[in-house]
Amino acid sequence: MALNLNDDVQYLKGVGPNISEKLSKLGIYKVRDLLCYFPRNHEDRREVKTLRYVREGEKATFKFKVIRHSSFFYQGKLHPKITVADETGTAYLYCFHRDFITNVLKIGMIFYLSGSYTRRRNETAFSRFEYDLDEKAPELKILPVYRLTAGLSQRFLRKLIGFALSQFCDTLEEDIPGFIKKAYNLGNKGSLVREVHFPKDMVSLRKAKEAISYSEFFKYQLVVAINRNRNVNIKKERKIFSGKLKEDFLRKLQFTLTNAQKRVLEEIEKDLNEPRPMNRLIQGDVGSGKTVVALISILNALERGGQAAIMAPTEILAKQHFYTTERYFQGMHVNTAFISGSVRGIDRKEIVLGLLKKKIDIAIGTHAMFSEDVQFNDLSLVVIDEQHKFGVLQRGSLRAKGDNPDCIVMSATPIPRTLSMTIYGDLDISVIDEMPEGRVGIETHIVKQAEIDRVYEKVKEEVKKGRQAFFIYPVIEETKNSDIKNAIDSYNRLKNGIFKELGVGLLHGRMNDDEKNEVMNRFKDHEYDILVATTVVEVGVDVPNATVMVVEQAERYGLSNIHQLRGRIGRGSHKSYCFLVPDRSTGREAFNRLRILKDTVDGFRIAEYDLRMRGPGEILGKAQSGIPSFIIDDFDINTKLISRAQGDARKYINGEVGPNEERDKYIDNFVNGDSYKNAVRYFGG
Ligand code: ADP
Ligand code: MG
Repeated sequence: MALNLNDDVQYLKGVGPNISEKLSKLGIYKVRDLLCYFPRNHEDRREVKTLRYVREGEKATFKFKVIRHSSFFYQGKLHPKITVADETGTAYLYCFHRDFITNVLKIGMIFYLSGSYTRRRNETAFSRFEYDLDEKAPELKILPVYRLTAGLSQRFLRKLIGFALSQFCDTLEEDIPGFIKKAYNLGNKGSLVREVHFPKDMVSLRKAKEAISYSEFFKYQLVVAINRNRNVNIKKERKIFSGKLKEDFLRKLQFTLTNAQKRVLEEIEKDLNEPRPMNRLIQGDVGSGKTVVALISILNALERGGQAAIMAPTEILAKQHFYTTERYFQGMHVNTAFISGSVRGIDRKEIVLGLLKKKIDIAIGTHAMFSEDVQFNDLSLVVIDEQHKFGVLQRGSLRAKGDNPDCIVMSATPIPRTLSMTIYGDLDISVIDEMPEGRVGIETHIVKQAEIDRVYEKVKEEVKKGRQAFFIYPVIEETKNSDIKNAIDSYNRLKNGIFKELGVGLLHGRMNDDEKNEVMNRFKDHEYDILVATTVVEVGVDVPNATVMVVEQAERYGLSNIHQLRGRIGRGSHKSYCFLVPDRSTGREAFNRLRILKDTVDGFRIAEYDLRMRGPGEILGKAQSGIPSFIIDDFDINTKLISRAQGDARKYINGEVGPNEERDKYIDNFVNGDSYKNAVRYFGG
């Protein structure tokens, strides 16, 4: 029987259980996945160049013969060095950490190499390069370069995907409306996919990539638009509320709200009087005062007789929200309870019962609130902190615990508007774009590793004044790559060395929740002067007395990441200092990149810069970015395609464009067919 797109890839000619297992590591299960496994980039083989005619630093493809194997010494280890030659000269491949390479590039072999060389000590040297063994005079063409996994070679994948394309390409379903396709002259799906793998030329590659990206964006935006419309059509009964609780609260509050906070509150209160449920994202930089705004909104919900839930991605954060909420609501007759995986037994039963009987007004906790035993009497407002760590699906399941409750999502990750549109397309967006007054600034310095002693002195000085400090490291413990500094060794080094007179604590992601809480509380109670940590302290940790943050090997982080970290200081009334200490080996470009952190504290600007330089995965985490396989890496083009796709999808769904008959058929197909399921699976919506 003939195979089809939805068959398991292991039945394909040349694939068996063994290879299909390896393919699954790349996310390839079905024949369809194979066709949609788009290349990372392409190698232009139409022109093979020779050493003599390529300048230093210029990227090119060469055809070499392997002449000799030898080795060189680096960081206490031997690494392979391979001598190669073409008809115009000799070159040396410095193969850092590529021990296996001599088994592949055997002496006498002819192979293709892509990369650029440098001249050092009279040698023509390659250290970063890709190679390919396709030695039997290949047609000179543009070849796809795929992301690989152990045991699958570039050559094998090319052949397999080429074969799959020849067999199945024409059976790929058209997945966007004919009307849209015609409007943009997009061409049929099969030939677009083929073109993205094995393009005719660079121009048609670019066009095919854009067409496929647009189609993916369109489908995602269609899912979002459908959800959005469903939501709009829900009719809620809204009780009137006077805002008295809020007035009481504001009267006691020790500060006045910023204009931005007031504006966002108004937007929320307007939503709370609409018949449809609220779905609103509050975006604002760390410390901009999102939490207060959310708490005031909760008071409005409580006044109507409802209950509220606040959910955070980690236990530490949830605990902190719990304490903050208790502190703010002191003396207001509001009952709160904390729920996480570690609240069990009798305590848990009591809370569950309290929620059911409405003895508890606000539940604050982690995803443990999803579990089935937790039921509310009348859940009317859900507040979710740091949404991008959750995903759309979970947002839905907490909402399902009430009768279409209102929902506020708080995000401290400033995302440029175009990107938040794709990810949070079904949410309305409010931005708190103003910091509370009287904030003492954070001074950021970039310090060379050689001058780290100055940083230690500053830390000592601050501690003497009664302040506290963070030291941040990229990993928890020693890894294979011994160049990366780790928290545990650094903790021991600092504690027993330069800071042996001081209290030093350690916090990292592999501690269990109890251990983490313990350490955090000790730091808060000032038992520790210094906290050595990994990025677990990135979000929410609130210790106003901490005024120094030292980020070692700062070049290893995304800028937004460091910006979040930096938000842990400057929270009190004391001037604060952030020291970014790049590694000795950091190149000029990476060094300069850090400068933007010195120049601005505007999270949106920083995020936008990150996004341009490193792509959205950097800011959002790959799985959550809500962006299809992202085969185009040009930020501006994506931005353009995204907003176009969103506009088109909304108009299409609302019947503003395209022929009606086609639309009805298409949407019916879309919602009931694979497209929608795939999109939902894809985006977790
Ligand atoms: P976010 O959640 O946006 O990071 P928070 O709500 O935690 O910010 O607020 C950070 C700190 O600023 C808290 O200590 C809070 O009490 C305080 N704060 C919030 N709004 C104001 C304001 N308008 N004026 C002064 N301080 C404020
Ligand atoms: Mg906060």
